[in-house]
Amino acid sequence: MQPILETRNLTKVFHRGSLLARDRIVAVDNVTFSMQRGEVFTLAGESGCGKTTTARMILGFEQPTSGEIIYGKGEERWHPRVWFSQRIQAVFQNPFETFNPLRKVEGYLFETVNHYKLASSKAEAEELINSKLEAVGLSYGEVAGRYPSEFSGGQLQRISIARSLLVDPSVLIADEPVSMVDASIRMSIVNLFRRLRDELDMGILYITHDLATAYYLGGQIAIMFRGNTMEMGPVQEVLTNPRHPYTQLLRESIPEADPEKKWRGRISIAETEQEEYLREGCKFAGRCPQVMEICKKQVPELVDVDGVQVKCHLYVDRGSVHEEVS
Ligand code: SF4
Repeated sequence: MQPILETRNLTKVFHRGSLLARDRIVAVDNVTFSMQRGEVFTLAGESGCGKTTTARMILGFEQPTSGEIIYGKGEERWHPRVWFSQRIQAVFQNPFETFNPLRKVEGYLFETVNHYKLASSKAEAEELINSKLEAVGLSYGEVAGRYPSEFSGGQLQRISIARSLLVDPSVLIADEPVSMVDASIRMSIVNLFRRLRDELDMGILYITHDLATAYYLGGQIAIMFRGNTMEMGPVQEVLTNPRHPYTQLLRESIPEADPEKKWRGRISIAETEQEEYLREGCKFAGRCPQVMEICKKQVPELVDVDGVQVKCHLYVDRGSVHEEVS
């Protein structure tokens, strides 16, 4: 089966500081993954790991420094422009920022219908909008004439998802979509993603720091740290049997694979983020409980260990080297 979305050695470099003392920050370093239709692929890691920069490159908001992004190969309706504008849609973290408080919510939905010429009359547009709102558990009658302040965060996020669905996307990029909504309705949004995956056969790129919801959504996961993929494979395998010391540490931060519970928060955002990005060798060496001398000098290779790719010197003799895509 052809992947619906693929990245090959995707890399983004930023430069920080003055001309005389410039730091080269590799925010995304040779990230390679592929995603199928009807599959959730999760990019997970703490803040500043490179997951959102990866998503921004896929969405065309950032230009990659090097590497490739391949969209919808084998798709009947494939065309570069159509893919960028229609086949790939995004839902962002804060639903309150998505909507102008002074503008009625339905205006956004009609705007999308008009922009993509999805209906030839107001009645047809209303019918289409209603069908997409129903797909997320709402209806046009509940939304019509109302302002953003009249909805909860969860409802606004659903409306945002319905808006994305208007163009029948093949891929939905969901960037921390539940982190700003109440815990009580978080699971209903996560369940909605499961339903969209199954019923609409959509690929969902789920970006999160929340391993519990990632586990619940299933599919594949890439654990990222300072721009690098540290571990990648089937989500159940990676999270129940983590091989990489960083995944192990992250895994200890959630009580069980219970999506109702929050992280205990043992992982804090490193104050030394920049230092870690600039570190030679393994980026995790400064915090790794199993650090060795070689880790401080040499970047580990990504190796395949029983179907899971792991980037750690502990596994170099136990796995086969994962070939970089050329
Ligand atoms: Fe720890 Fe070394 Fe593995 Fe990095 S390469 S995660 S420092 S053991």
